[in-house]
Amino acid sequence: MDQPLIADVDDVRAFAATLPAKFLRCRDLGHNMGPHDAYPLEGGGYERILKCRSCKAKRLYLLDEDFSIINTSYDYPDGYLAERGTGRIDRDGRCVFRGAAVLADIETLSQRQGRKR
Ligand SMILES: [Zn+2]
Repeated sequence: MDQPLIADVDDVRAFAATLPAKFLRCRDLGHNMGPHDAYPLEGGGYERILKCRSCKAKRLYLLDEDFSIINTSYDYPDGYLAERGTGRIDRDGRCVFRGAAVLADIETLSQRQGRKR
């Protein structure tokens, strides 16, 4: 079967239902990256690793000796990414993540504040 270019919104909904609130928030608002590790590389250059304070995803930067970026990559926690072949998550798919994140926030804040709506 051909892989869809754009992920089907029902597939995104099913996937979003498997994600913890912290993953939904990162998918909605972006990662909250901070320094995790940095070190000089043998033979020159540096590796710098940032880590998301929320979902623990890592962003790796390979830098040359002048700190120009040679390469970047992500290392995601298990379960963060949709299955390969799901397709690109477009605007409608992102609305699914945002909706799930907002509803999770409402639930969490209601419990914290002891209120029900
Ligand atoms: Zn994150």
